[in-house]
Formats: sequence, C-alpha cells, structure tokens
Amino acid sequence: MNRDTMGIISDSPTTCELKRHSRIDLLCLGVLLMTTMAIRRSAALFLSLTCLFCTIPASAQSRRASDSQATTQPGTLWSDEKILETVNAVSMGPKLLPEAWPNHARVAVLITFDDDTQAPLLRDGTTEPTALSASDYGAQTGTPRLLEILDRHNIPATFFVTGVDAMIHPELVPSILKSGRNEIGIHGWIHEYPPGLDSEAEEERLLDKAIAKISSLTGKKPAGYRAPSWAFSSYTMDLIKKKGFLYDSSLQASEVPYKIFAKGQDTGVVELPIDWTLTETVYLGAQGHMPSPDLLFQLYKQEFDGAYKEGTTFILTMHPYLGGHRAPMQHLDDLLTYMQSKPGVWFTTGEQLADYAKQSAAATKSN
Ligand SMILES: [Zn+2]
Repeated sequence: MNRDTMGIISDSPTTCELKRHSRIDLLCLGVLLMTTMAIRRSAALFLSLTCLFCTIPASAQSRRASDSQATTQPGTLWSDEKILETVNAVSMGPKLLPEAWPNHARVAVLITFDDDTQAPLLRDGTTEPTALSASDYGAQTGTPRLLEILDRHNIPATFFVTGVDAMIHPELVPSILKSGRNEIGIHGWIHEYPPGLDSEAEEERLLDKAIAKISSLTGKKPAGYRAPSWAFSSYTMDLIKKKGFLYDSSLQASEVPYKIFAKGQDTGVVELPIDWTLTETVYLGAQGHMPSPDLLFQLYKQEFDGAYKEGTTFILTMHPYLGGHRAPMQHLDDLLTYMQSKPGVWFTTGEQLADYAKQSAAATKSN
C-alpha cells in the first residue's frame, strides 16, 4: 500500500515496485519462455526419437517380428512345396475295409494296452521311489487285474510293451501270453521320444534293442509297432518299414484300417489308427479333469455303437498303470459285457486285424 502526494491511498505500485514487478514479470516470462522452450525441446526430442524408432530401426524391428514369427508360427513362412512335403511325408492311403468281417461279423473290436510301467520315468532319469512305484502299479496290480477280466470274457487283446518294462518285470510278458489269445507289440526300448532323438542311427539302435528283447520273450518277431508317446520322428516310418512290421498303430487319420503312404508311395504297412479320445490318460489321473470314469465309458460305449452301426472297427487303448485301477476296470468289464451282448462282434488282436484287412484288400484288387 502507498500514499501519494494527495494523501490518497492508492493501490498503484510505485516505480520501484513497478520495476520490481517488472523484474518479477520478466523473470516469470523468462521462466515461461524457458519452460516453453524446454517443452518444445522435449517434444522435439520425443518426435525425433519417435521418428528415429519409426524410420531408422524399422528394418531391425521388422527383422525382430519376422524372427518371432519364424519361432512361434513358422508355418506362416513356409512355401507351398514345404507344406505339401510335410503332410505327404507320412499320410493316409486308401482305407482297408473288407467287404465282410470273419464269420460275417458286423464289427471288429481291438482292445489294446500300452503297458508302460517305469520306463518313461527312467528315460527322464527319475530315481524317486514314490513316482516309480506309481508306475510300477501297472505291472504289479493293473495288468493282473485286467488279464483276469479278459480271461473271464475270453477276449483277446494286444499289449504294446517297451523293452525296459519287459526287462524289469520278467513276469509281465509271460503273464500276458499265458492265455494264448494275446499279442505283444513293440513300444520302444525305454519309451524314448522319437522326435527328440533327432538321429536315425540312435532311433534304430533303441528299436533294435526293443525288438530283440520282446522277440526273446515271445519267441517270434513282433508284427505291430506303436510309437512311444504316439510320436514319429522323420525317420520312424522308414524304420517301421525296414524292420518289416506288418502294421503300425500310432497314426490317427481315421477309425478304420488304412494303408500308410510315405512321400506319396504305398509303404505296404497297415495302419490300425488310434485316437486321443479313445484312451483314458487325457481324462483320468493327475492331469485329467473327468470327475468319473463312468463318463469316459459312456463315450467308449457310444463310439462302439457308432462302429457297430457303420460295420467298421472299434479300437480302444488303455494304460494299466492308470486305467488298471478298480473303478475304470469295473467299467471296462461292463463295456466288454455290453459288446458281447451284441451279435456279430469280432474281438481280435492287432496282428489278426491288420492281416485280415490287408489280405482282403489284396483279394478284392485281384478280383
Ligand atoms: Zn506309452
């Protein structure tokens, strides 16, 4: 507040104050200008960086995206030739559906078991006894239980066994063969994962060991092969053919027997196809989400009913270390009773089914 010569109180600033205000205003203006300039510089810097990001590293950015695509979606970059080469490496040839099943049966039923015990865990280097014992269940408890059920129904089955499981359970293969109805097929040496070996020589070495071990116990060369983990490497099909197997049972392109083609050529090997819905491992056990095996066997029953209606084949796979428990086995028992109640059901082994399908196709062709 100031007093002028008239004594009038005025709120007008004195010169000094004006000067001071002016200095403050100038200072504020300076700060404002500097701030504005700083903002402008920041904006300019941001724009420069954005442009730099958009323009100069565009090729690197594109390269990174391309690398990521090649890793996560490699097929999107494949040529047409590469796509065709991939699907034709091993493919479904003509179906091998006879005009009639033996004894005028309406449907062929093949019950199979992948009788894995500790082999898959040993393959991974597992030494922990609790985990190993849970797999040992397949040999100690599951297999004897299901053999009793098969014997009671007088039904044959095919068991795919690894060389290692046959070695650590010397009673396993003889117990399966005791009835004289069942077949033993090859399921690898130690349940090796064929695509993971990435070596034809190593895959052949393990396959030869498995064939030698199983042959020494059965007294005959095995007719059937089922890939461990149901997975082929790029060498597996050639090895199946080279070892003279009559059939494979790992592929999944149909529900009926078919010829396996490799690179467009007939391999002469019969496929007895399987399916992830026609096994219990995806539904039961630690990783499964099905609340009751009852639902699982409803699915199996409906699949059988469909095959019966079509006059084709019903191929089931179970694992004694898992499906050999009491509840699933009760349902298997019930399923076998149901199937046996229908007229015209041919219960067979993989070898008999593949042989019949192949011979029938040859006979039809020559007519
Ligand atoms: Zn297996």
